[in-house]
Amino acid sequence: MITPLQSTVHVLQMFAGRHRRGLVAAAVALLGGFGLTAVATVAISPLVPDPGLLPQRVVTESLETKDLTAQLGALAAQELVLTRSTVTRGTDSAEALLSRLGVVDAAAAAFVRNDATARALLAGRGGKMVQARVSADGALESLVARYPAQRSDDARTRFTRLSIERAAGALSARIESVPFEARTRLASGTIRSTLFAATDEAGIPDAVATQISDIFATDIDFHRELKKGDTFHLVYETLTADGEPVTWNDGVGRVLAAEFVTGGRRYQALWFAGSDGRGAYFTPDGRSKRRSFLASPMEFSRVTSTFAMRLHPLTHNWRKHNGIDYGAPMGTPVRVVGDGVVEYAGWRNGYGNIIEVRHAGDRMTVYAHLSRIDVKVGQHVEQGQHIGAVGATGWATGPHLHFEFRVHGVHQDPLAIAKASQTQVLDEASRASFGLALKTAQVRLDIAETLPGRRAAVE
Ligand SMILES: [Zn+2]
Repeated sequence: MITPLQSTVHVLQMFAGRHRRGLVAAAVALLGGFGLTAVATVAISPLVPDPGLLPQRVVTESLETKDLTAQLGALAAQELVLTRSTVTRGTDSAEALLSRLGVVDAAAAAFVRNDATARALLAGRGGKMVQARVSADGALESLVARYPAQRSDDARTRFTRLSIERAAGALSARIESVPFEARTRLASGTIRSTLFAATDEAGIPDAVATQISDIFATDIDFHRELKKGDTFHLVYETLTADGEPVTWNDGVGRVLAAEFVTGGRRYQALWFAGSDGRGAYFTPDGRSKRRSFLASPMEFSRVTSTFAMRLHPLTHNWRKHNGIDYGAPMGTPVRVVGDGVVEYAGWRNGYGNIIEVRHAGDRMTVYAHLSRIDVKVGQHVEQGQHIGAVGATGWATGPHLHFEFRVHGVHQDPLAIAKASQTQVLDEASRASFGLALKTAQVRLDIAETLPGRRAAVE
């Protein structure tokens, strides 16, 4: 039996096979029927600014439009309702936030301060997208805030919606976890200098570049190994929350499929949720790319990408040094490379502020010279969690992270450990649906390869 999806995939394969180059318009039309909103050009992704840099005052003011007479009637009757938007700041008080929204309403301010649910509006570091409906006399009619999901597992698929409503004169608040709407984008790029220069040229957001470098972290050293002429093809999601473009994380969801061709080798990865429902990146032969340990304790970002790893200054050997130094600006987040428990967090001579994390199998990772420690002894930490920040405490000549990996107390090469750490092979039950997902991804990547953005980037 052939399912509709299988037959669509088949048609796309035939199509892509016949028209590997220059098929864009038709491909996009076809993809429309495929339930996939493809964007034909790649250089269109809006770069969404950091929420802290957004205009901090009113963004929109719209009338509730009926017809003109009704509007005038409403004006006369003082029934005018304004919708206003802003982004929360870490320093906001209830009054400051509401006043930016044009709300003059002491009861609403008290509600935001005191209600156990509404208080979440002002918690954390700001950056929440807020819209309020305000009556002509400044009373709060309703308010909706949208911000990242609390659970990091959900962050790429769901957001948090906090709503405050006035009903029969009384305010009430509730918080829900809501799925994003996702659109799929195809994109391609060619390396001329760095990964970020190539993604800039192709209009691909930084958050996507960072994901690619993590996906291929144990295959490719993005600091050193990229060569002019290397190419990549991508399928990734862009997100909206209740129809509003998401302002955090560059508005990007997940990279669904990626291909990187470097040094004559082709690396591919596909996001796939197996029969256990847990998603991971897989190679085309069904091997999970999820490792027990990340290759690097720092995210590859626009900032860190300009710093190379530093081994022992004289021998260029991690053995003499007992670790790897990562140069990075003061305050760059440091992440734990594997699940574990914090064994030590505090000051130690030479190391300055140091965190030691114990992992299964008598393995330990060490993070030193930190400017900040964000964990406590005994705390459980999850792979990728931020535990502190780069500093220059102890015997450090400048800001850098000193990172060590010890197995049974003996220092080991962290990169070798990450490469060797256990990978999972797809179970039998998931094989069939994986095969289909792989074919779909392959076709999308083939189409991405034909996009004009890439040809423009190659010339
Ligand atoms: Zn060091």
